[in-house]
Amino acid sequence: MCGIVGIYSNKDISKELYYSLYSMQHRGQESCGIAVADQNEINYKKDMGLVGDVFKEDELAKLTGTMGIGHVRYSTAGGSHLANCQPLVGSCRKRKLALAHNGNLVNANYLKDMLEEEGYMFQANSDTEVILYILARYYKGDIVESLKITMDHIKGAYSLVIMGDNELVAVRDPHGFRPLILGKKGDEYIFASEDCAIDILGGEVIRDVEPGEIIVVKDGEMKSYFYNENYKPVKKSCIFEHIYFARNDATIDNVNVYDFRIKCGEILAKNDDIKADIVVPVPDSGWAGAIGYSNYSKLPISEGLVKNRYVGRTFIKPTQEEREIGVKIKLNPLSKIVKGKSVVLVDDSVVRGTTSRLIVKSLKDAGASEIHLRITSPPVQYSCYYGIDTPNRSKLIASQNSIEEIREYIGCDSLAFLEIEGMLEATEEKSTFCKACFDGDYPVKKIDREELLSC
Ligand code: AMP
Repeated sequence: MCGIVGIYSNKDISKELYYSLYSMQHRGQESCGIAVADQNEINYKKDMGLVGDVFKEDELAKLTGTMGIGHVRYSTAGGSHLANCQPLVGSCRKRKLALAHNGNLVNANYLKDMLEEEGYMFQANSDTEVILYILARYYKGDIVESLKITMDHIKGAYSLVIMGDNELVAVRDPHGFRPLILGKKGDEYIFASEDCAIDILGGEVIRDVEPGEIIVVKDGEMKSYFYNENYKPVKKSCIFEHIYFARNDATIDNVNVYDFRIKCGEILAKNDDIKADIVVPVPDSGWAGAIGYSNYSKLPISEGLVKNRYVGRTFIKPTQEEREIGVKIKLNPLSKIVKGKSVVLVDDSVVRGTTSRLIVKSLKDAGASEIHLRITSPPVQYSCYYGIDTPNRSKLIASQNSIEEIREYIGCDSLAFLEIEGMLEATEEKSTFCKACFDGDYPVKKIDREELLSC
């Protein structure tokens, strides 16, 4: 998963890019980068690490330019190393191009084979490089035309910001899997994965970029195109963004993330009859759901786990061992609150089960008499091919185990998940979501080579 931002302005914007990326740090913590266009040059800096560590004031000052793009990365395709940091910057027909991508292609391997057969040499192993090369391959001077062809080739999830010498382009795939939001601040145009990145600049959110839409900002003017005039967009916005990934203050495709999470908690409580003393959220992602649960059940909500604010998202660690240590460093029980109590512990999701298991153990060690784990989403049973890091099905605890087996593994006294119908009850936009991780109904299938070559 990643966060992207693009800004078109008439003043230097590297600081604005920096602040926007900072606000989207939750979307990826492995690496980050900023590229700015200055006359005919694109200057950039990217590196492994957090935004605040990679960019120092003096370096930002050197990145001069009135148009730029930025990226924070958590790898879902391609390894965690420098070559895969974004934005990717290249040149094509004497024009510089920079590109930042959020999402995952489902046919990147085949496209890569095809390009390699034609003599392209890849420097990195992420799917983003494939997009850049296809774009360059069909570029004859008109970025929109080359994008339309590129979008016919690439399949899967992609929100992109692309920068040429004098234009900024934002693109969302025909299903709109990943978010991309358009904002304005005076004459300045801002595109970002989440609205927090627009808010913190004092900008105003205008709207979501539509599925299949290509927006070009050039000479101070914005123009919108669709990748295929005959295509009827079928919006399939990722529901996991609303469950876990996005910040509480995000609104994506007209669904407010906080409202959604509160409602999920309320619906979970409505279908529950457990008797307990307190509701304890797993910070931070369990808070909104726990508030909803507490609202409906009338059980008091208490902070039973203290979070170390200086540790990042634990899931966002590439190995299992690191993930386990991460959870321990991150959360500590408040024994004063939980001792002798029957606790409804609320979290947003169970993926591998590692987090819940460790938390339940630490709450029990701290004296909680019972732990009733309540999850404000359905069991994650299928891999995500579109950019959420749940790629290997065998690692998903719910793909191999019954709820009772999961309960046993986690070590809680009872366990309940929100059902798919309950989750959809929390929003009016029911049919517009991709929920393949819960029901295996993939809007875009993985494509084989023959199919690809015939398209
Ligand atoms: P696990 O230990 O694998 O069950 O991790 C589940 C926890 O990680 C949940 O509490 C979520 O808050 C968080 N989480 C779930 N899915 C993701 C994801 N794709 N990326 C990062 N964190 C996640």
